[in-house]
Amino acid sequence: MHTNSNLYCPENLPAQNMKPENITVTEFKEAFIAKIEAMHGKPLSQTSDREKFQALAALVRDLISKNLITTNSQRAKEHPKQVYYLSIEFLLGRLLETNLVNLGIRDTCAKALSLLGIELGTLIDQEEDAGLGNGGLGRLAACYLDSMAAIGLAGHGCGLRYRYGLFEQRIIGGYQHELPDNWLKDRSYVWEYRRPDEKVAVRFGGAVRVQTNGKTRFIHENYERVIAVPYDVPVAGYKNEIVNTLRLWSAEVDVSHHNCCIHGNDCNSVIGYKHGVESLTDILYPNDTHYEGKVLRLKQQYFLVSASLQSIMKSFRLHHHSLSELPDTIAVHINDTHPALAVPELMRILIDDCGLGWDDAWDLTVRTLSYTNHTVLPEALEKWPVGMMEHLLPRIYMIINEINERYCRQLWDKFPGDWDRIRSMAIIADNQVHMAHLAIAGSHSVNGVAEIHTQILKKSVMNNFYTHTPGKFTNVTNGITHRRWLLTANPMLADLITETIGPDWVEYPCNLAQLAPYAKDTGFLDTLANIKMHNKLKLAKYIKAKYNVVVDVKSIFDSHIKRIHAYKRQTLNVMHIMDLYNRLRENPNLDIVPRTFIFGGKAAPGYYRAKKTIKLINTLADKINNDKSIKDKIKVLFLENYNVSHAELIIPASDASEQISTASREASGTGNMKFMMNGAVTIGTLDGANIEIRNAAGADNIFVFGLSAEEVLNYYRYGGYNAWDIYNSDPRLKTVVDQLVNGFFPVDPDEFRTHHEALLRHNDEYFLLKDFASYVAAQCRLAEVYRDKYIWQKMCLMNIAHSGWFSSDRTFSEYAVDIWEMDQPVPIWRRCQPEDYERVMPEHDAYI
Ligand SMILES: *Cc1c(COP(=O)(O)O)cnc(C)c1O
Repeated sequence: MHTNSNLYCPENLPAQNMKPENITVTEFKEAFIAKIEAMHGKPLSQTSDREKFQALAALVRDLISKNLITTNSQRAKEHPKQVYYLSIEFLLGRLLETNLVNLGIRDTCAKALSLLGIELGTLIDQEEDAGLGNGGLGRLAACYLDSMAAIGLAGHGCGLRYRYGLFEQRIIGGYQHELPDNWLKDRSYVWEYRRPDEKVAVRFGGAVRVQTNGKTRFIHENYERVIAVPYDVPVAGYKNEIVNTLRLWSAEVDVSHHNCCIHGNDCNSVIGYKHGVESLTDILYPNDTHYEGKVLRLKQQYFLVSASLQSIMKSFRLHHHSLSELPDTIAVHINDTHPALAVPELMRILIDDCGLGWDDAWDLTVRTLSYTNHTVLPEALEKWPVGMMEHLLPRIYMIINEINERYCRQLWDKFPGDWDRIRSMAIIADNQVHMAHLAIAGSHSVNGVAEIHTQILKKSVMNNFYTHTPGKFTNVTNGITHRRWLLTANPMLADLITETIGPDWVEYPCNLAQLAPYAKDTGFLDTLANIKMHNKLKLAKYIKAKYNVVVDVKSIFDSHIKRIHAYKRQTLNVMHIMDLYNRLRENPNLDIVPRTFIFGGKAAPGYYRAKKTIKLINTLADKINNDKSIKDKIKVLFLENYNVSHAELIIPASDASEQISTASREASGTGNMKFMMNGAVTIGTLDGANIEIRNAAGADNIFVFGLSAEEVLNYYRYGGYNAWDIYNSDPRLKTVVDQLVNGFFPVDPDEFRTHHEALLRHNDEYFLLKDFASYVAAQCRLAEVYRDKYIWQKMCLMNIAHSGWFSSDRTFSEYAVDIWEMDQPVPIWRRCQPEDYERVMPEHDAYI
């Protein structure tokens, strides 16, 4: 029913021994026509673009299948160490072009289609984004899959196959409306293989009976069985014939319950059961960096962890005799705390299913698991009520309890009498299970995602854990796949780079540094500017078509695209625009560099303030875009439904990259890296990876402003901040703040009351008022520099040239070597050269 294996028709494949990259244009064309006819039962001329896309994707999947089979059979022989990346989100975006590029057949495909009068781009646009993630965290997981395959390491993703991905955002009357993201309209996903034979059962509820005659055994009874069916999405490596797997689990009913119904048992309860089970993987929770203690979410987390670990252990036992080999042959990574139940679940499997004793099981568990922390925001820290955990997962709760008792005892021995310390580190405290504590205790490695973030973990948020086990803590700065975000998203720039320094940069992204000498070459800088102009025209065309707004392509395209969140400070950007607008209204002849302010991002449906921020941006846009008096010098746009595909359109067309989070709050950011790699100049705070971007590109090639993380943390710790003082001492700022509520906007005077109150009554938690003046000054500097084409282009170039370090190939190589201790060699060049490291992460640079 769900399967699409009937689309597979081997006779339509090119010759059996044909490697995908050797396929000719003619062969591709023939195979495509054959696939169209076999799949749809009609000739090419009668098929829609959607049908053409489906056939093309199916053909590409056939080609990948061959490599998948070879990769798997090779690994069955060689048994390389396998890493499993557990993540509740994978924000994949579209895969057709990525797969074509990775197979090395993009051009062949484009030529073959054009012989048939078809434009590849049209078919690419038919694909729905797979939006199985909220934002940065899920996109990071997707970038890592791409890099793991590119490097050729055996690294797989484990996630959930949500029936509905992140909601589709519509803006109506300036407000966000949420529509279900029905990405599986066709019932199946073109890239996946449904594998019902590899299903496993996950248990919820019931009770645990302890049997103590002879060896103690824990018998789980009266539980609800949910069947987890895997859907495997192949992940093709870049031109290396390697294919890894992203395994997405879907919840299905246990057929034995069906039988009860057929045999005349209580059908209503069966229907209720069916409904309950199927809703388990129905939706992705649309929260970003905000924790919500919903029981369904806890069920999802355990479902992911239990299904993944059971299937990992099954395949481990197929290939290995002794459990003691586990940490040498398998690494399981916990991406943020959502899969932290991997700790007790692996313990459960080792003890209850494999018969190990506690100490041996614990030793293997800790050596197998590693954990990445993604945020220091207090509202994001997951804590589950003990009662909920105990009721839903009785055996797992018993194990967590035991882990907690042993952990606290160990702490007591080391810090006798230090109750406060032990309490702050306990896994169970105040009747809640602290997931981060569980993940730290149960992993051999804990990492932050940017230098400054790791320092904050060590010195502040997790200081007690760091003091206890300093060796566990390490940093791995995030990265992005340059194959999607440069090679594919910005083909003209990629071509220019290849013409200039040769093609090796795709394999060795740090080679981009060879572009730096061209900073003196005005001809080269002209070309760079032309490419940016081309990308801006493309975006302007899209904006005209979709929003009927004409934007000036000579203006600065200034983009602020990311989830809407108070700490990301979209409102600070708005306040700068309001101030600029006020200045223009005072003096319409003011000589400013024209600007197009572009916003995009989704707000969590229950996040009142963030939703009001969207309304604020749209209200401002209406006012400014319709004010003839300012002569089109500034425009403001909110582009709806920000997702991966929109990012791929906006980022290559941007001149300025807004990365203006309150210092210390953004763990790393990855949007910042995508912009840098596409030659946009950052205007930002010294937060997250912005610091490393500054180090890499050079302080002259970024616009930095605002409080430092240390200053912010000191205010949080010791107080001393007074928003009113700043408000009263800066008349321009006062005007802007007043305009939120004084009728300046043609809306209900209470429309933006929340923002006003956040700034004054609640003392401006994110320091917008404090950073306003330095932000405005940085914006002025940016505009002045932009006037000088060559200085500006040189800045762009230096950003591109030093962005190689931010490739997720480098990030992943660090994980592979330092954390997962993979046995396959990771070439040193993947990790960039030592001097690259020194430049980006100066030895004694302490940021807080
Ligand atoms: C990269 C990306 C993000 C993360 O952006 P930040 O600026 O790092 O918050 C979020 N959403 C999408 C669609 C992305 O591509």
